[in-house]
Amino acid sequence: MSECLFCKIAAGEIPSNKVYEDDICYAFYDIDPKAPVHFLVIPKAHIASVSAVDEENCAVVGHIFQVISQLAKDLNLESYRVVSNIGEQAGQSVFHLHFHVLSGRDMTWPPG
Ligand code: AMP
Ligand code: ZN
Repeated sequence: MSECLFCKIAAGEIPSNKVYEDDICYAFYDIDPKAPVHFLVIPKAHIASVSAVDEENCAVVGHIFQVISQLAKDLNLESYRVVSNIGEQAGQSVFHLHFHVLSGRDMTWPPG
């Protein structure tokens, strides 16, 4: 069995607050939200980060962005930020590809 936290969440082995699910991806609210709306969208298949996206698996990323666009419409998010941290220095703490979707407050640029 995979020891990856997000593989276990996608498989329903660890509980989460689900936003959306299909055969390819799973979306759930972040356990430690950094904005009034903060959910994560992950592929069900394990990919470690954007660094591991390649010609073979890249279709899942396009699908995830289609899902993010639709969820933002469904949740009436007029303005939002999509973030993926790659590597420890950039703030990645879970090494399963995920896109943060943050909304509901003013955002600063550049990010810290
Ligand atoms: P990152 O630090 O970019 O790798 O993002 C990982 C995110 O996963 C963080 O925002 C955490 O708060 C979130 N997280 C960790 N464990 C859980 C969990 N069990 N359920 C929901 N979100 C989680
Ligand atoms: Zn995983």
